[in-house]
Amino acid sequence: MKIKTERKFSAAHKLPNYDGKCSRLHGHTWKVEVTIEGEPDVETGMLMDFIEIKNIIDGLDHQYLNDFIENPTVENIARYILNQLARCQPRSDFKIRVWETEDSFAEVDNRDKTASLGEIKENIGEIIGENYGRVTG
Ligand SMILES: [Zn+2]
Repeated sequence: MKIKTERKFSAAHKLPNYDGKCSRLHGHTWKVEVTIEGEPDVETGMLMDFIEIKNIIDGLDHQYLNDFIENPTVENIARYILNQLARCQPRSDFKIRVWETEDSFAEVDNRDKTASLGEIKENIGEIIGENYGRVTG
């Protein structure tokens, strides 16, 4: 079964490694699409409470993203949100699509090996344990 929800947040960021105007402080309203696939919990009947997803995304609203995410490109924002969701619900599969403008998005899912690069891998590894490392190599 799948569930899907969408939510927007507005925040500021700058891209320190980018040679161009995005290296300067500026803002966007990002749209986040979250798709979760798995089996609903037997007791609650839910895959994940929509309120939990909302709270994770709202946590980024009106923030300076560089405080949370190193080099907060749209790709790294998608990975960050994936990591936060996986922490809440390690047994489900997630697909995160983050729209930075009306015509440009980044998409990542937790079966995508690129989602596990760098510090995100360490974070998810800590949360899910050794099995995660074995699955992703
Ligand atoms: Zn930007």
